[in-house]
Amino acid sequence: MNKSVRTRFAPSPTGSPHIGNIRTALFAWLYARHHNGQFLLRIEDTDRNRFVEGSVEQIMRACQWLGLDWDEGPFYQSERLPLYTQAADQLIASGHAYKCFCSSERLDAMRQKQEAEGTPSGYDRHCRNLSADEVAKLEESGAPCVVRFAMPDEGVTSFTDAIRGEVSFENRLLDDFVMLKSDGYPTYHLASIVDDHDMEITHVIRGEEWISSTPRHVLLYEGMGWQHPVFAHLPIILGSDRKKLSKRHGSVQFVDYIDQGYLPEAMFNFLTMLGWSPGDDREEFSTEEIVSMFDLDKVTDHAAIFDGQKLLWYNGLAIRKKPLHELAALCVPHLQAAGLLSAEPSESDLAYAQSVIALEAERLKLLPEIVELTRFFFEEISEYDSKGTKKWLSKPESAPLLKLISSKLQALTDFTVPSIEAEVRAAAEELGVGAGQAIHTTRLAVSGRLVGPGLFEMIEVLGIERVVARLEKAAEFAQAG
Ligand code: GLU
Repeated sequence: MNKSVRTRFAPSPTGSPHIGNIRTALFAWLYARHHNGQFLLRIEDTDRNRFVEGSVEQIMRACQWLGLDWDEGPFYQSERLPLYTQAADQLIASGHAYKCFCSSERLDAMRQKQEAEGTPSGYDRHCRNLSADEVAKLEESGAPCVVRFAMPDEGVTSFTDAIRGEVSFENRLLDDFVMLKSDGYPTYHLASIVDDHDMEITHVIRGEEWISSTPRHVLLYEGMGWQHPVFAHLPIILGSDRKKLSKRHGSVQFVDYIDQGYLPEAMFNFLTMLGWSPGDDREEFSTEEIVSMFDLDKVTDHAAIFDGQKLLWYNGLAIRKKPLHELAALCVPHLQAAGLLSAEPSESDLAYAQSVIALEAERLKLLPEIVELTRFFFEEISEYDSKGTKKWLSKPESAPLLKLISSKLQALTDFTVPSIEAEVRAAAEELGVGAGQAIHTTRLAVSGRLVGPGLFEMIEVLGIERVVARLEKAAEFAQAG
């Protein structure tokens, strides 16, 4: 019987997670969900020097926001130390590992010599052949020691990567790496294989930067007499200039995108496309579609390119797909934070905000932009667009035109788009000005701007009172100018 798929996300809590970290989490989650398997969260916190307070919270926040729920965990490696020590003991007993008592002074001298002579770097295996007596003596003396893996001198270690196919490394190029440090904490390699085995991980899905660690892992599994899981190394993510992703390309910290007002479904679609391709040109997928289509055979082995404009485009799509009440619920806090809406708005304030949001949804790419797009719906106009003023409000017919429109609108019994439109056009005709001029001038008067939503829809939403007050004020301004 096939074992059920189990994948994991195994971040190190060394800071706020990067885009690439969360893309790894996403692909591991997708693979598990696609195969009805389990997804685990494991915090690899054995390097105490690199631990950054708050990073676990940020990692979890990022996963939860994106909808990457874990079935087990979070596990903390720092709470599992005895497991690693046992494995190290077993590897020593079977001759796959040995204790190394070299002092840091000796190791430094060794490194300097290697550099000076141009010989390959790496541990010179000084302690590999200590006799049992020598080891016992050194232990008795209380000398601190690490445990090193006894790397085979020759041969090749290979594995089949689920994305890249056959991958081979020559053993002679790998050194006797440290598995267990003198403080009793394991290094990444040992902790990773012990946990992946213990947690019955079937597929190790991780970034390409780990591929050179994998032969060490394969040998550790062999040494323990365990079967290794399937390995899949995801392509690196580069900036649009094909350079390493950095601040120049936009934020690299994942949580920044949450704070900037991106929607999780947009990020989900965008991140999936960073390395996965369904085989055709389609780019737009719902989360459910991605889960049902995702598999490792469609993950590319060439670099994925991060394009911030594309992410914005996905976000605009996601915004327009949202039902209005959901979009409003997302925008309202931004309006409140900007002071455009009170902390406890009345029903009618909320209904007004919702109609305003509906009018601007088309132009919205990022949630916080709602504030500047809609400010004039909530606040008096303090300034008219200067170009618009020159072009439209300075004409001699502007003031009479705005006054006429105002009086016609006040006479309306039904304040709806078709009647508003008919009145604006009628006023233009009466005064012998073009419809275009009437529309631009009115737009400037009621919104202060030259561009925005449809004029008549905007007037309907603003409501008769605001509109009349603004038309009168603009007429005065035009007259004065
Ligand atoms: N702790 C490693 C990281 O931070 C995990 C690599 C792996 O998935 O094996 O990415």
